[in-house]
Amino acid sequence: MLPDEAALAVRAAELDAADRLAAVRRRFVLHSGTDESGGGDRPEQVYLDGNSLGALSTGVLPRLTEVITREWGELRIRSWEESGWWTAPERVGDRIAPLVGAAPGQVVVGDSTSVNVFKALVAAVRMAPRGRDEILVDAATFPTDGYIARSAARLTGHTVRALPAAELAAEAGPRTAVALVNHVDFRTGRLHDLRGITAALHRAGALAAWDLCHSAGALPVALDADGVDFAVGCTYKYLNGGPGAPAYLYVRRDLQPRFDSPLPGWNSHADPFGMAPGYEPADGAPRGRVGTPEILSLLALDAALDVWDDVAVPDVRDKSLGLTDFFLECVAALAPAGRVESITPRAHAERGSQVSLRCAGAGDVMRELTARGVVGDYRRPDVLRFGFTPLYTRYTDALRAARELAAVLEGTG
Ligand SMILES: *Cc1c(COP(=O)(O)O)cnc(C)c1O
Repeated sequence: MLPDEAALAVRAAELDAADRLAAVRRRFVLHSGTDESGGGDRPEQVYLDGNSLGALSTGVLPRLTEVITREWGELRIRSWEESGWWTAPERVGDRIAPLVGAAPGQVVVGDSTSVNVFKALVAAVRMAPRGRDEILVDAATFPTDGYIARSAARLTGHTVRALPAAELAAEAGPRTAVALVNHVDFRTGRLHDLRGITAALHRAGALAAWDLCHSAGALPVALDADGVDFAVGCTYKYLNGGPGAPAYLYVRRDLQPRFDSPLPGWNSHADPFGMAPGYEPADGAPRGRVGTPEILSLLALDAALDVWDDVAVPDVRDKSLGLTDFFLECVAALAPAGRVESITPRAHAERGSQVSLRCAGAGDVMRELTARGVVGDYRRPDVLRFGFTPLYTRYTDALRAARELAAVLEGTG
């Protein structure tokens, strides 16, 4: 071991020993079957892709087994009432609410993030005064948000203007109905100023819709306190709900009575079982529902949320910044000079929970890293992306990832 590396190993061990969230890691299934059955003494996988698909927590399988065998297998249709299936979208929404700074009754779970972006944008446009005919989107947005915004604009006779997130506040004006902003940029890991941009949009008379896919569960979000109008987010990244787990929609309480959904399904009707031909919207969060909820994945998410019961989000944020700082330090110390460049902001106030490194041949580098048991992901054309989920990532994992990255870069230099 090089002297640098030895010192970093000591630091990593100290940081892990002092980690207030260390015990939470045991709530997750992190061994890797192929590594272990391969015999030998290969170390565990280092999983740095929780910002794409969060790891499985131990409570999910027993809970889903119960849901399938008892609630579906035996109670069948009775479970809509007796097992609380019908109201699960609001109940699980109220479990997500504290993670995004929302009081109860404003978050509903269902459908995908893409679909919820559509509901929020069209509802916002319908709420906006006449003459406000433009939707702003941040230019670096996750693609689905931009696609949906353009379709929502075509349907409603609006236009879309794409701008760097940093310019949205200054550019919003008398024609702006709503701006859709990604809280954390999925490519670079840059964190945007939710409070400041929301306040500027409001000063311009526009509504603010935020996509929390890369922030909820990784850092504090204060939707109520910051006056956000609409928010959406997925639950399979930092909330570990499982592949394709349903997304959530937040509509600020005082806007709920004016929320005119573009997808008014029978689940959001004031009297769903009245089966009336005419639509009359339910009050409150259920107004964001569409059709029959995806019960199996919704209840998998419900079980996955148990890991948060005694976790304080500020602790998560502290550890997230600690991990990303330490990883950047390890990469700087160990990787061959000039081979990678961080495109993730240094300033804590501008950093989400991932580190993105620009690197020539990034696709091959990530394939080799994965083969060595360090799983991140690759975003074309040249970005290596490492997500740090504070609930189950250790400082020793960050060091090992940097060490393996350095070795791969030495080999491909
Ligand atoms: C992951 C992600 C999505 C995903 O949308 P789906 O409808 O779940 O596929 C949307 N927006 C952002 C910003 C994301 O990071």
